[in-house]
Amino acid sequence: MSDYIVRAIAADSQIRAFAAVTTETVETARKDHNTSPVATAALGRLLTAGSMMGVMMKGDKDILTLQVKGDGLLQGITVTADSKGRVKGYVVEPDVIIPANAKGKLDVGGAVGHGFLQVIKDMGLKEPYVGQVALQTGEIAEDLTYYFAASEQVPSAVGLGVLMNKDNTVRQAGGFIVQVMPFAEEETIAKLEANVQKIQSVTTLLEQGHTPESLLEQVLDGFDIEINDRIPTEFYCNCSKERVEKALISIGRKELNEMIQEGKKVELNCHFCNTNYTFSVEELKEILRKCK
Ligand SMILES: [Zn+2]
Repeated sequence: MSDYIVRAIAADSQIRAFAAVTTETVETARKDHNTSPVATAALGRLLTAGSMMGVMMKGDKDILTLQVKGDGLLQGITVTADSKGRVKGYVVEPDVIIPANAKGKLDVGGAVGHGFLQVIKDMGLKEPYVGQVALQTGEIAEDLTYYFAASEQVPSAVGLGVLMNKDNTVRQAGGFIVQVMPFAEEETIAKLEANVQKIQSVTTLLEQGHTPESLLEQVLDGFDIEINDRIPTEFYCNCSKERVEKALISIGRKELNEMIQEGKKVELNCHFCNTNYTFSVEELKEILRKCK
């Protein structure tokens, strides 16, 4: 597995930064969900952001959910990540095909449409943290930049990119999140802004062979960078037949009885990784017995 995230600080901790290469993660998502190129790009960008935002959380059991809901053909994207670099996600409509945008690129913004971005952090407290902002462009990176500024009051620069091969498999995926701490000096902020202005697209940089470390060297050009951590990241779903069985138990005797009466096997699908779990009538009867 070659995907990983780096965590770094720069300018005497005035800046904290994350960068990731997520090519295999996004390709796994593409294969699992059989996504069209624009759906792969949209999901891949959100997965890449999710993997980095996941490792920003401190607790072992903390869970981050990013939810994009738009009026475009994709309808919505959901990504869930933990603090250990494991990330999963899906788009509501995986086979959307729309014309390229004015720049000749995959029109992620057009496919997402107008709507909102929700960030949910479940940190084991009574109530999860929920932040919500209106989508700015639907291109994901701009929306997250706006979210960090408006909802978390942390000025940030977010770059995300997914590039496809001719056969629509994932060629490159990755990104960065750079954040300015409250005590940062004007000079630091100005310099960082200038750097971000002149940076090429993430896909261009990845195509040039950049690693997460060298991506950060580009964004943080002229700053002293201290890499603190390298964290492997992967598309990982924790579903299993046992878990699905538990969900079946929770729907109750009445519904289970109805399923059994129909006399047909039941197929249940995990949205996150698109795995199908089949339960025979015999298995359903067994589950009913466990059901109180
Ligand atoms: Zn699953």
